[in-house]
Amino acid sequence: MTSTQPVAKTHFDFSGRRALVTGAGKGIGREIVALLAGCGATVVALSRDAGDLYSLSAETGCEVIAADLADAGAARQAAEEAGPVDLLVNNAGISILQPFLDTTPEAFDQTQAVNVRAALIVGQVVARGLIGRGAAGAIVNVSSQSSSVGLPNHAAYCASKGALDQLTRVMAIELGPHGIRVNAVNPTVTLTPMGVMAWGDPAKSAPMLARIPLGRFAQPRDVAQAVAYLLSDAAGMVNGVMLPVDGGFLSN
Ligand code: NDP
Repeated sequence: MTSTQPVAKTHFDFSGRRALVTGAGKGIGREIVALLAGCGATVVALSRDAGDLYSLSAETGCEVIAADLADAGAARQAAEEAGPVDLLVNNAGISILQPFLDTTPEAFDQTQAVNVRAALIVGQVVARGLIGRGAAGAIVNVSSQSSSVGLPNHAAYCASKGALDQLTRVMAIELGPHGIRVNAVNPTVTLTPMGVMAWGDPAKSAPMLARIPLGRFAQPRDVAQAVAYLLSDAAGMVNGVMLPVDGGFLSN
């Protein structure tokens, strides 16, 4: 973080709203839970590691559900367990780095299962609930700049995020008539456990950093703020957008 970077104050009001955040245990998801809870939402945090969820609940007062979203049945059951949700953030994602020639079917399938299929299943449960209650809602899918640019060793990941953008567009057009807005955020490298795993080596990260006009990688807070905006009534006419949170990377 540079000394010139302003510290954002958050003014969104989510009181009376129930939010479900997947992949909430670490990184971006954890920050989203903290921000939404701080803005008055009742938050249900869904993740895999019970220890992460326990500490997050202690910090934010969120409700927790431990489940593995790679399992379609478990994903559906967890989403149903979350109850009547108004706001959904499909944030859970994995990245298994393999060169294209060595990408295994297992890694490819696992990546699609978590990064795309879980968003479909959890989105279906939440949207059916909203439509059944005749309630308006908002969904944000956490995609990536890698949905529109190719990155070495990211074949399965880039394919999954391209698919997630397209899923977002279809959700937006089919759910919009029910008053449910669906958008995506597309962050650049973000300094989380996943970000450090993929980009921690300066030899890899320097060329990427050089292409970001703002001269820094994203912080989880940058992404959480964009998600909060898209979930909020301030974005009431915003539907079906892929919002880069990339310091201008895609403008290069
Ligand atoms: P992290 O790996 O730091 O955290 C991901 C969280 O999701 C962890 O709590 C993890 O649990 C959980 N999770 C992963 N798989 C599952 C699963 N099968 N079921 C339930 N929970 C699961 O990732 P980030 O915070 O960096 O990434 C969050 C999202 O942002 C992802 O969709 C990612 O693709 C996207 N993104 C990240 C970028 C980055 O540079 N970091 C850039 C652009 C997009 P556990 O710890 O148990 O694995």
